[in-house]
Amino acid sequence: MSRPCVVEDASWYETIRMADGVTLIHEPWIKPFYRCNIWHVRGRDRDLLFDSGLGHVSLAAHVPLVTERKVVCVASHTHFDHIGCHHEFPDRCVHAAEAAILADPRNEWTLADRYATDDMFDALPERWDAAHYHIEPAPAGRILEHGAIIDLGDRAFEVVHTPGHSPGGIALYEKSTRTLLSGDIVYDGPLIDDAYHSQVDDYMATLERLRELDVDVVHGGHFPSFGRTRYRQIIDEYLALKRKPGCHLA
Ligand SMILES: [Zn+2]
Ligand SMILES: [Zn+2]
Repeated sequence: MSRPCVVEDASWYETIRMADGVTLIHEPWIKPFYRCNIWHVRGRDRDLLFDSGLGHVSLAAHVPLVTERKVVCVASHTHFDHIGCHHEFPDRCVHAAEAAILADPRNEWTLADRYATDDMFDALPERWDAAHYHIEPAPAGRILEHGAIIDLGDRAFEVVHTPGHSPGGIALYEKSTRTLLSGDIVYDGPLIDDAYHSQVDDYMATLERLRELDVDVVHGGHFPSFGRTRYRQIIDEYLALKRKPGCHLA
């Protein structure tokens, strides 16, 4: 088999403007299932960065948007595909239940040992060597709990604790625009509830709670964004599957 071609650092990231000052930053040469959506939100006093990607190529060096203003960098959770560049942003936040992983992101705790291989790419970044991939420690200055507010000056995102995919997963909800940045708990693709620290019963309880949120647009941790109808469909499909007799965990 031929090895995939190599992409220069300067061409590694792509940015796509969405509505309401939200920009998607992603790594298009990573296959969709592994490709994290990095969400940037422009605020008056500071910007929000929700997740930071694989971390092999510097986000700060190659995406001017993330260094134009002060940035508060939040981790939706601590899987390797979401926190790779957190160390580049000094103002960092994470949920209490995964603070220890962000501070000491060992490959077996971030799932990098299982998924960070050549297979995740359509084309490789420069200097890629799966055997030496690791994430830099990025201890958080602020520990988030359910209900905390990320204040950008003219807009505010409320922290919603979403355990299930991982214990310290969070989503960010902006009431004024009915926007949900959902991380890996809800997106329009196969949901993962079998990681070493996943809990299916927590996942179900979280989705039952999330279903009641008044959302117009959902920007997930992977795959394309969607609206209210699809949001409820995804949640209902997951819950129906897990409620089937014989599929319930003890
Ligand atoms: Zn994840
Ligand atoms: Zn992910």
